Amino acid sequence: MPRVTLGTPDCRNITPLTIHLRIKFQPGGTEKPGESKVVKVQGKQIKLGHISPGELEAFKARFQYVVTDQWSGKLYIALPDAPPPLGLPTTEFRKFMYPGLARWNPCVQCKLKVELTDSDFDWWVIVCKPEAGQPAFPSYMYTPDKLKLVNSQGMPHGMLSLNDVKVSKNLPVLKQTATDNWNAAESISLQQVVAGHEVGHMLGLHHVNYSHPLCHEKKDELYDNNDPICYGDTVFKAADAMGYGSEVRAVHARPWLRVLKHLTGHKKGWRLTTDPLSLGCATPETLLEKATSAGKALLQNALGQMRGLQVG
Ligand SMILES: [Zn+2]
Repeated sequence: MPRVTLGTPDCRNITPLTIHLRIKFQPGGTEKPGESKVVKVQGKQIKLGHISPGELEAFKARFQYVVTDQWSGKLYIALPDAPPPLGLPTTEFRKFMYPGLARWNPCVQCKLKVELTDSDFDWWVIVCKPEAGQPAFPSYMYTPDKLKLVNSQGMPHGMLSLNDVKVSKNLPVLKQTATDNWNAAESISLQQVVAGHEVGHMLGLHHVNYSHPLCHEKKDELYDNNDPICYGDTVFKAADAMGYGSEVRAVHARPWLRVLKHLTGHKKGWRLTTDPLSLGCATPETLLEKATSAGKALLQNALGQMRGLQVG
C-alpha cells in the first residue's frame, strides 16, 4: 500500500483520494563542475556531467509541476451502485456521501501529491545530466512490487535525466511491430514528458502492452521488459501515457482502485473513468471555478507581498 489520504466528500459528492509519493532526488554524475564521467545505465555507456544545485532545484520544481499536472485530478472512480451485500456496506458507503443534499452520484477523485524529502522517503531516484551528443538516456523506474528486491541489492529505485521533465517527441519506431497501419501514420509523432511516464511506474502501472509475452517480467527478477513492443503495437496503444504518448486513460486509475478496495474491503462494482459525468458523478471543476481559485491565489499572494513590504 502506498501512503494515502482519503478526504471527505464535498457538496458535489466528490471524495479526494490522494496517493503520496515521497521521493529523494540525488544528483548523479561528477562532483565538480566542468568534469564528466562515463557510467553504465541499463547496459548503455553514457557520459554524464555535473549537476549544479540550481539545476537540481529547477528539475525538482518542474518535476512536481508536470507530474501532478499529468496524474492528479483527471481520473475518477464511481462507487458500486448495488445495495449490500453486492454493493458497499452502508457504513462504508456513507463515508463517500456528503451529509447535506447532493444531486450527484458519489465519486472518488484520484489525486497525486509529490513530496520531495531526503528523509523518510519511499523512492530514491538518481538524476543525471548527459553530456551533449549522448544517446537517448535510458530512464527507468521500478514498479513498487520490485522495491524489496531492489532495496536488498542497495540499488536506486530509478534514474532520470534532467531532460525528463521537458516534453519530448517520440517518433514512431514500431514500424516493424505495429499490427495496425502504422506506416500510413508515419507522420504522427507522439509527445511525452518522460517523468510522467516514470511516475506511472511508481504508481504500479506497467507498459501499455504489458500483456505481450515479451513484456512479462519473470517472477522476483529484475527482468528487462523494455522491448519496443511493450510500448504499444498499435497507434492507439502507443499514444497511451504508459506507451510513447501522454494520454491518461481510465485504466490508469487502477492504483487508486487498489487502495479503495483495501480501505473498504470491497472488491466489486467500482467503475473507472476520465469522464465522471458519464457515470452520474459531478463534473470536474469548471473553467470559471478554476479561474476564480487561481485569481484568489494571485490576489492573496499579492496581498501577502504588500504586507511584507509594509513590515520590511
Ligand atoms: Zn516505462
